Amino acid sequence: MSAALPLDADRLWGDIMALAEITEAERPYTRRSFSPLFQKGRAWLADRFAASGLAARIDPAGNLIGRAEGRAPSLGVIAVGSHSDTVPSGGRFDGIAGVAAGLEIARALRDARLQLDHALEIIDFLAEEPSDFGLSCIGSRGMAGVLEANMLDMTDPRGGTLRDALRRVGGDPDCIAAARRHDIKAFLELHIEQGIVLESLSLDVGIVTSIAGIRRLEIVFEGAADHAGTTPMDLRRDALVAAANTVVAVRHAAERLAAEGPDYFVATVGILNVEPGGANVVPGRCRLVIDVRTTNPALTQKFVAEIDRDSKRHAEEARVSRRALVALSDGPPAACDPTLRTRLRESATELGLRVTDIASGAGHDAAFMSRICPSAMVFVPSRHGRSHVPEEWTDRDQIARGAVVMLQTVKSLDRSLSGDARADEGVR
Ligand SMILES: [Zn+2]
Repeated sequence: MSAALPLDADRLWGDIMALAEITEAERPYTRRSFSPLFQKGRAWLADRFAASGLAARIDPAGNLIGRAEGRAPSLGVIAVGSHSDTVPSGGRFDGIAGVAAGLEIARALRDARLQLDHALEIIDFLAEEPSDFGLSCIGSRGMAGVLEANMLDMTDPRGGTLRDALRRVGGDPDCIAAARRHDIKAFLELHIEQGIVLESLSLDVGIVTSIAGIRRLEIVFEGAADHAGTTPMDLRRDALVAAANTVVAVRHAAERLAAEGPDYFVATVGILNVEPGGANVVPGRCRLVIDVRTTNPALTQKFVAEIDRDSKRHAEEARVSRRALVALSDGPPAACDPTLRTRLRESATELGLRVTDIASGAGHDAAFMSRICPSAMVFVPSRHGRSHVPEEWTDRDQIARGAVVMLQTVKSLDRSLSGDARADEGVR
């Protein structure tokens, strides 16, 4: 890519580093949603929005939005965004890179004295990461019109409701339906990859094909918690033996489905509770939770059927009982818009960047946005694939390259979507 960038890479980098300073001092980089530090970060962002000529507001779902008016208001909005909250001891780039890139795009357009036909909105979505209320993507759910009343009643460990917390950050839970948008014509999100594909292939950007759906499954085995010294091996009912064999079955089934291709598929047993958990007691009860992620729900069906069969067999072999599989949660995959993907790829190619298609195994606000408007994502490399840790890192120029791809795409979409709208008018 040529040295003369159409945006200011240092200014963009400076914003990311400045926001990183707003952190729990003992636990960098921590800025949990709804916390005083989160509010401080947002106040800083709102100031940056205003200084960049954007009108800042908070919508009923608690999203911070900066807006530059377009020349043709009836055309609607092109939106760019991500999130400024972090996980505990998280990184400086996850989410923040996307918000800062949006802000830099708005500034670059202003510096070039370029007013789009569409309005441009930069969105800092509320609480993308799991919050104290046990819910993630709160702001983008609200914008997609799927933040339900029962979710607003969810409570944090201190008994406070999401409804009240939403009010505290400037949202309006009583008018949550008004957060649902109908005027956004395209949504773009830049995000760090949080994986090692781009780095290992020495690529500049990834164009996301689809954001994996996530299903969480619970399996419980029940045996007998007998004395580990006095119970002969052939009379034991060891729940952990069934669970352990099921962990291995999950691994093998996932490896097989992932190798089949072309769809993305991963599965993990991340929780294994063993009871009573004594060194001298045969495990009487085991609970495991499987996290299944794929871009193709048909593979999840296949996987679940297989694990259902295998875990039943392992229970019988260990002479324990197995409760029916329970789906604790189930989110569908979200495909990125093919036209937006093509535009992003064209922009990257024109800039001479090395680009690939890539599936997202992590969830993102773009998944909810794709329910209400064409949405797509650009990934930039993560050093060693690390994320949600203080060592999370992406180089200044890597972020700038991703942001330029977004900027060029915003400009090209502004032209093509305006053309489409005018053609529609002509047909009518
Ligand atoms: Zn994120």
